[in-house]
Amino acid sequence: MADSIYWNPVLETLPREKVRKLQFKKFRKIFQWTYDHSKFHRKLYDDAGIAPQDIRSFEDIRRVPTVEKSMMRDIQGKDPFPYGDALCVPLEEVTIFRQTSGTTGQPVYQPDTWQDWEWWTECWSYILWAQGYRPRDRVFIPFGYNIFVAFWAGHYAAEKIGCEVIPGGVLDTKARILKIQELQATAMMGTPTYILGMAETARMKMDIDPSQLTINKITCAGECGASIPSTKKRLEDAWNAKVFDHAGATEIGAWSFECTEQPGGMHVNEALFLVEIEDVETGEIIEEPGRRGKMIITALDRQAQPCVRFDSKDVIEWAAEPCACGRTARLIKGGVVGRADDITKVKGVLLAPSAIEEVVRSVDGLGDEYEVIVDNVGDAERIQLKVEVLDEAQDQDQCRLIEAELSDQLRLKTNLRYDIEICGCETLPRYEVKAKRFKDLRQSKEK
Ligand SMILES: [Zn+2]
Repeated sequence: MADSIYWNPVLETLPREKVRKLQFKKFRKIFQWTYDHSKFHRKLYDDAGIAPQDIRSFEDIRRVPTVEKSMMRDIQGKDPFPYGDALCVPLEEVTIFRQTSGTTGQPVYQPDTWQDWEWWTECWSYILWAQGYRPRDRVFIPFGYNIFVAFWAGHYAAEKIGCEVIPGGVLDTKARILKIQELQATAMMGTPTYILGMAETARMKMDIDPSQLTINKITCAGECGASIPSTKKRLEDAWNAKVFDHAGATEIGAWSFECTEQPGGMHVNEALFLVEIEDVETGEIIEEPGRRGKMIITALDRQAQPCVRFDSKDVIEWAAEPCACGRTARLIKGGVVGRADDITKVKGVLLAPSAIEEVVRSVDGLGDEYEVIVDNVGDAERIQLKVEVLDEAQDQDQCRLIEAELSDQLRLKTNLRYDIEICGCETLPRYEVKAKRFKDLRQSKEK
């Protein structure tokens, strides 16, 4: 087993037509399950005039209505309390409560059974194995174990595949770094923001060079940073480790991962999930590579509160090439490139916040933090960008050069002009979990 590069050699190398057959068979099964057990879904499907026997081909799947997060929020608090009537199992079978982080509004509750939790762990086992985690690894988890799903499943999966796990729980950042040093941990997991912040703390406050520690691989999640080339490079340089991206969500599951080939994208775990990409304007399902759309996803095996054609709002596109690792599961190019509801219009131009991050992190002499504020000045719209300069680049001439390069690159990549403010070291806010670097203060937003 430890010799195989695949966690599940059969499913991960299944020929494409068999993958599609498996997905179709599983979709019919989870659709029937949901139709039979969830009052919420039954009504949605009855209103749309679609029932399990109508699903005869992939084209029929596209007629199944999608579910949005706001719909799940609306049923919350109904019977059975507190989850509402999408719950497909008796309440006594629920063994764990989680909730979404609430970055896009009121959190949504998520019930899982013991079996669902075992499924979460299995999803993460694919991820970690594909990223080179093996039983000899000592995995440090610098995560405040709480009501968010975050790295809980990463913890259990690391145990499942045979690694040794160190739960970094309530330790503060300095104590975590010392523990990594003391125990010679080889791997860790965190948000890109936090992992960069840890490196900064080690360097600036503890006089420890994180690249000299023993961490050789890092799994990132929660933000798209590890798929943004300039951010990935900063992370890898800081820790002298391979950095891999992963995307998942509380209401979906852990659906994708980068493999050790680092192919410039992430595999969708197609044995466990059905991912469809929908053209935001026409509603058409995009099969060909190179066209962006929003992800509609089905978790094919999740039972307590199913995820069937969930409108995730994640913006993705299929990659053209298969991956050199031999997995037959398709790749999405560049990972999750944004969220359909994050992309906003400023001065009449469509702007994805991740494009700003890519530029800021690619300019030498700048720190990792930045802040973007969009507001109105009179009738005009203004974008302010605050960046931090590194210690060694603090003199005035240097700052002017950095500002000029930043401004050029931003205009090239985003077609917009910014009011740039260069701030001193460590003056911008730091974030423990998900960063909030983009602030839209406009009164009337034209989207
Ligand atoms: Zn691969």
